[in-house]
Amino acid sequence: MADKVPSTRLNSGYDMPMLGLGTYNSFKPNEMGDAVKAAVQMGYRHFDTAWRYTTEPEIGAAVKELIQEGKIKREELFIVTKLWVQFHEPDQVEPACQKSLEALGMDYIDLYLIHFPVACEDLEITKPTSTDYVDTWRAMEKLVDKGLVRSIGVSNFNQQQLERILKLDGIKYKPANNQVEISPYLHQENLVQYSFKNGISTTGYSPFGAPGQNYERNDAPKILEDPTIVEMGRKYKKSSAQVILRWGIQRGLVLIPKSTNPSRLAQNMDIFDFTLSEDDMKAMQALDRGYRSNVHFFTMSQLA
Ligand code: NAP
Repeated sequence: MADKVPSTRLNSGYDMPMLGLGTYNSFKPNEMGDAVKAAVQMGYRHFDTAWRYTTEPEIGAAVKELIQEGKIKREELFIVTKLWVQFHEPDQVEPACQKSLEALGMDYIDLYLIHFPVACEDLEITKPTSTDYVDTWRAMEKLVDKGLVRSIGVSNFNQQQLERILKLDGIKYKPANNQVEISPYLHQENLVQYSFKNGISTTGYSPFGAPGQNYERNDAPKILEDPTIVEMGRKYKKSSAQVILRWGIQRGLVLIPKSTNPSRLAQNMDIFDFTLSEDDMKAMQALDRGYRSNVHFFTMSQLA
C-alpha cells in the first residue's frame, strides 16, 4: 500500500511522501500512538508532529514498537517535527532539536521546520521578541551539517519571509518545505507557485478546515459539507474528505490530514484510484475565499 503514495523530491535530495498523518490535538493517552500503529499498517509512512503538540513521545514509542516487531524500518519513515517559537535564539536551536530527538527516541529527523516566523518569550504565541528568523535559519543549517536532521524548512512563512531566507548572504541550504494552511477555502496559489519556482515544496495543513476544533464555532464554514464538494464526491463515489485530498495531490501539494479514527485513516489513504477532471479542478478553484481556520494573535500579513 505504501508504494501507492507518491513522493516529492525535496531540494535536499530526499523523497517526501505526499500524504502524511497530522498529529495535532490528540491528547487522550495512547490515542495518537495507536493511530500511528494503525496508519503504518495502512501504508502511511510520513508523520507530522511538533515539539509543541506534545505527541512526539507517543509517536516515538509507537514507531519503536513497530520497528522491534519488524513491521517497519526507520529509514522507511519520514518524520517531520518543528522548532517552537520559544527556541528561536540561535544558541537554543540545537538543544531544542535534541529535545525533540530525545522525545521521539530517534537519532535523526527527516524534516525539521521553524514552526512560525515569529520568536516569542515563552510557550504561548503572545509576546514576540526581536530574534530574527534569518538568524534562526543559520542555526538550522548547522543541524544538517551535524547529521541531526536531513532536511530543513519553515512553516507559516509568507512569500516575503521565504524571500528573505533565499536571499541570505552565504545561504548553505534553501528551505526544502513550507508548511501552511491550505483547504478548498484557502488555496494559497501565489505562495504555492512562488515556492515551486524556487524549488520549495509546500505542505498543506488543516485540509478539511480542522473540523474537531473549529466546526463547533457557529461562524466557521463546514468545508466538508460544501455542496460543490459533496456533489463531486457523489460523482466519483468518494467522500468530501477524499475529494479534497485528491485535489491537493493533483496540485502537487503534500497533505497531512489528522485522524485517530481507523476508518477515516483508511479513507484518507484511499485517494490514489481516481482523478478529478480538469473541469472539477476548475470548480474547486472557484471555492477559494481566503478563509483561515487557524488564527493567531499576530496580524495575518506576517503569516502565510
Ligand atoms: P484537519 O486535518 O483539517 O482536520 C482534522 C479533523 O478532521 C479531525 O477532527 C478528524 O477527526 C477529522 N477527519 C479526519 N479525516 C476525516 C474524514 N475522512 N472525514 C471526516 N472527518 C475527518 O486539521 P488539523 O488537524 O488542524 O491539520 C492537520 C495537521 O496539520 C495537524 O494535525 C498538524 O499535524 C498539522 N498542523 C500544522 C500547523 C502549523 O502551524 N504548522 C497548524 C495546524 C495543523 P478524527 O480524528 O475523529 O477522524
